Amino acid sequence: MLDLLINNANLPDGRAGIDIAMQDGRVAEIAAHIQGAARETIDAGGQLVSPPFVDAHFHMDATLSFGIPRVNQSGTLLEGIALWGELKPQLTFEAIVERAMTYCDWAVGKGLLAIRSHVDVCDPRLLAVEALLEVKKRVAPYLDLQLVAFPQDGVLRSPGALDNLKRSLDLGVDVVGGIPHFERTMADGADSVRILTELAAQRGLRVDMHCDETDDPLSRHIETLAYQTQRLGLHGRVNGSHLTSMHSMDNYYVSKLIPLMAEARVSAVANPLINITIQGRHDTYPKRRGMTRVPELLAAGIPVAFGHDCVMDPWYSLGSGDMLEVAHMGLHVAQMTGQDAMRACFRAVTETPAAILGIEGYGIAPGCNADLVLLQARDPIEAIRLRATRLAVIRRGKVISRTPAAIAALELPGRAGETSFRIESKQRQIKD
Ligand SMILES: [Zn+2]
Repeated sequence: MLDLLINNANLPDGRAGIDIAMQDGRVAEIAAHIQGAARETIDAGGQLVSPPFVDAHFHMDATLSFGIPRVNQSGTLLEGIALWGELKPQLTFEAIVERAMTYCDWAVGKGLLAIRSHVDVCDPRLLAVEALLEVKKRVAPYLDLQLVAFPQDGVLRSPGALDNLKRSLDLGVDVVGGIPHFERTMADGADSVRILTELAAQRGLRVDMHCDETDDPLSRHIETLAYQTQRLGLHGRVNGSHLTSMHSMDNYYVSKLIPLMAEARVSAVANPLINITIQGRHDTYPKRRGMTRVPELLAAGIPVAFGHDCVMDPWYSLGSGDMLEVAHMGLHVAQMTGQDAMRACFRAVTETPAAILGIEGYGIAPGCNADLVLLQARDPIEAIRLRATRLAVIRRGKVISRTPAAIAALELPGRAGETSFRIESKQRQIKD
């Protein structure tokens, strides 16, 4: 007997009227009509079934700490880092675990089942590292948490940071992080990229650096990151997060840089909610948007994901773990309004970050993990437009969260009834 059978689903690639059979935690079959008994059957009713959302860039050690000990007044990255520095001495293992577990509950409710979180390693107690390793263990049955050893105050600038970072990796942190633009000089930034990529090469690990999160067009650490990736043979294992300086760079220089990134197979993560909020703060008018060049990177074949980065922390007071909100903002900031471009924004919070994290068995195909989300939308574009309700979230063939459909009950003269915010017309197929 099947564990779970979904009937009449639309898939993100455009297939419609599809049945999905799940058994032993995996997708067993995908076909137009599947016969067979199942412990549970869900009628998708022509709505979208997607692989789960994936967040390629988050800070789970800081999440839900908004207002402790105070609020960021300037809204800048630098005040956020200073505020985090004030908060750090007050952190406890229990408080970090509790906040992170709460956030993971929110994530599951939103169909977000894999998160790459940076964890600050500059505190020699490694309190946050130990807390998030504990969280990773606790949530493993339902959420993949990948940790990045992140030297928030600079691996060279902060005394003991490199040693702490190595100890974190020894404890089981998965990925090597960095923050070259926060080192004291451009030269130190470049040196930090060399040291950290060499460390990753020695240990066979992936790399994900906060890179050039600045409006300074001369912040070019992404060039060094691509160079070291190429030199050390780390192709396909290195990610540049933020890359906001690329927004302000000279076009001629970018025309050389993007092919270097493509050659080294360096991926990129933009964080639209945070980039549009934090960048451009030193501008008067016109104010720069500050997000990296997403359409141009995609056109060069470079994988680009959208990350959430922050939820209710020293840098950002909003957010709810909704990757459709992230995609919605990314779409707007990058002006990716074409039909194909909007579908690319959906991939930027699903399959692209899954590939960047190296998640095995991700997708909707026989043999893949039976991890799926049923959305109250017909296709990826409608899902983004509505930030669609996650009607059911499935992990390894079992429903782990359900949310009632968003339907308004109208009490208008002559219009009383229900409306679901969707256009039901079958004539709605739109081509670019
Ligand atoms: Zn970050």
